[in-house]
Amino acid sequence: MKPVIALVGRPNVGKSTLFNCLTRSRDALVADFPGLTRDRKYGTGQLGERPYLVVDTGGLSGEKEGIDSIMARQARLAIDESDAVVFLVDGRAGLNAADQVIADFLRQCGKPVYLAVNKVDGIDPDVAASDFHALGIGEPYQIAAAHGRGVRSMMNRVLETF
Ligand code: GDP
Ligand code: MG
Repeated sequence: MKPVIALVGRPNVGKSTLFNCLTRSRDALVADFPGLTRDRKYGTGQLGERPYLVVDTGGLSGEKEGIDSIMARQARLAIDESDAVVFLVDGRAGLNAADQVIADFLRQCGKPVYLAVNKVDGIDPDVAASDFHALGIGEPYQIAAAHGRGVRSMMNRVLETF
């Protein structure tokens, strides 16, 4: 079985951009896959010899208070069916209250969670990432999904336990 990697985070942090980066191959979009529903966007990708499934969750609003409105049902289901979660935050926008609420949820989800500080192109990545240690998710990976920067080394770590 391919490990299933869920991409989560508030809107506009770059989830769909990372999804495209991770599935950049012919026929990457998964129309039908046993045990997975169709209302989330699935794709396949491969790192070296290791194939994976990646899920783009569009459903986090992040705008109202409370875990239910921030973690839309769809995103929670995607987390449930995943083997690991990549939690994206926006390195340009800085730490956001919604990031903190999502982090609190993810710390209890029982899945391995990898924090990715995205959009570090053209800014100091260490300065951008330093804010996000406060989320308590561990050392952030510094990436620029739009350019593929840092994505391979992060995925090496995400996939090494499967
Ligand atoms: P989503 O709502 O989380 O799926 O975010 P999107 O993937 O739609 O990206 C939101 C915006 O951020 C778009 O305008 C992207 O072009 C931009 N974006 C995504 N990744 C990067 C990046 O690595 N660097 C920069 N500078 N912009 C990015
Ligand atoms: Mg999106």
